[in-house]
Amino acid sequence: MHTFVRPSTFTLADVDRKLNAAKLSLPKAQQLTPPDSSSEGGSSPSEADYFPEFPSEEVRPLDQCIAIFEKGPRPASASLALLNDEEIIQLSDAGKIAAYALEKLLGMDALERAVRIRRALISRASSTQTLESSAIPHESYDYSRVLGACCENVVGYIPIPLGVAGPLKVDGVSYPIPMATAEGTLVASTSRGCKALNAGGGVTTVLTADGMTRGPAIDFPSLVQAGQAKAWIESEEGYSALRTAFESTSRFAKLKSLKTALAGRTLYIRFTTATGDAMGMNMISKGTEKALDALQKRFPAMVILALSGNYCTDKKPAAINWIEGRGKSVVAEAIVPGHVVKNVLKTTVQDLCNLNIKKNLIGSAMAGSIGGFNAHAANILTAIFLATGQDPAQNVESSMCMTLMEPTNGGEDLLISVNMPCIEVGTVGGGTVLGPQQGVLDMLGVRGAHPTQPGKNAQTLARIIASAVMAGELSLMSALAAGHLIRAHMAHNRSQVNTPAPSAPVTPGPQSNTVLAQLARSNSGRSPFSPLTPLTPSMSQLSLSKLRR
Ligand code: ADP
Repeated sequence: MHTFVRPSTFTLADVDRKLNAAKLSLPKAQQLTPPDSSSEGGSSPSEADYFPEFPSEEVRPLDQCIAIFEKGPRPASASLALLNDEEIIQLSDAGKIAAYALEKLLGMDALERAVRIRRALISRASSTQTLESSAIPHESYDYSRVLGACCENVVGYIPIPLGVAGPLKVDGVSYPIPMATAEGTLVASTSRGCKALNAGGGVTTVLTADGMTRGPAIDFPSLVQAGQAKAWIESEEGYSALRTAFESTSRFAKLKSLKTALAGRTLYIRFTTATGDAMGMNMISKGTEKALDALQKRFPAMVILALSGNYCTDKKPAAINWIEGRGKSVVAEAIVPGHVVKNVLKTTVQDLCNLNIKKNLIGSAMAGSIGGFNAHAANILTAIFLATGQDPAQNVESSMCMTLMEPTNGGEDLLISVNMPCIEVGTVGGGTVLGPQQGVLDMLGVRGAHPTQPGKNAQTLARIIASAVMAGELSLMSALAAGHLIRAHMAHNRSQVNTPAPSAPVTPGPQSNTVLAQLARSNSGRSPFSPLTPLTPSMSQLSLSKLRR
């Protein structure tokens, strides 16, 4: 259905002017003739006399459509309301309307129509021609929140299943854990981790830092001048000048530090700032721009190469993030009682700690990892990012995590921590303006700006994410330790994987020689390095995650 939107700015003078012009381009038979007001029974003309009141069912010839579009009522949206979809597609094919400008031309009342028409245009121009009739949904979506903020050239939206793990007790509060994912068993596995963590009283978190960073690259004519600028920025006078300029841009942007480095005559400055409840990239970019204006006043010969000189470092692996932190730095800790490790996680404290050292610490060290000392932090973090409207590309650094496990209470219980220095999240701005994502933030009680303590909502979200990551780590590591994955893979008809049995060293130790001798006697033909304990994976009620980590 197409609706005629009566233009509010339409006047009869416009009609006269446009009609005269339209007559020139319309074919004779279709020329619109004004009623003769001097003739008997004549009444004052209205726009309906010149232009159709509703779009036609039929597709009118191109020149007639052009006439209506170009000479019809203004704004353009009023004229386009007189044309049906196929006629607008025709206009676009003729180069009269750019596909990217459909929303602007059709107006705020016709955003879904703009998407529908663009789908048709793109579909028909593609080799497959499938988009228009595809399963990609496009109806019943609030495109007004997308326009100018989240996406361009929109043809619909991609739904992702949303599951909820938990609840999980974080700093004494129980939260459902929202996870948007298409990876089967991920939510179930995380839920199992939540159950084990809750049984020990839940997770305790500490926020060790909160600061978004931006690192521009600036060229100077010489190394000496670059060095002078570096020294000035590090002086009280320079820092204060840059801070004043930086903080003039937003009441939430509070400059926390400036870190500088030289590479020849190029200067890199890493700005770190508090950003309230925003993830903060926009905010820090504005502040950095102003601060660089102040720097330029002092060093007119400098040339700003880029506001981001990769010294930030945004959406790329970088040791600087792992060492210095970016966004929210969170450490989370929990104790899991030994009986829970046995009954819920189907493994032992000793096996878990051993595997954590061999896999998450030594294995990642052997691989030369930076911040990858974990089993699958990115899995949980990205699923929550997608559910809560975060920038999913920032999972690169946000997923940096070191998982630590050690026996406690005389070896009875498990002490587990996750150390995540770069959780980059916000509860205002970006994808958090979208309705469904806001629904998820509402469920967690962290939507929007915190009413009294700016930044607290985003920080709470980071604490929840770190805690959920811990649940995911605990469950997957337990599954690996217990050898459950064999069963999960068999259940999913996947190829069998070689999961190690619990192992114990044979050297050094007083019994080593005896053990080796026994092995040699009883297992002639077998390697002395075969597992001392037979491979007996215990069975779990839960199908567990795939062994992709
Ligand atoms: P980002 O900087 O993460 O890209 P935006 O620039 O899109 O985010 O959103 C931040 C905007 O929200 C800023 O203009 C800021 O003034 C406003 N704002 C309102 N309340 C808050 C708050 N509590 N924390 C941060 N920003 C806030």
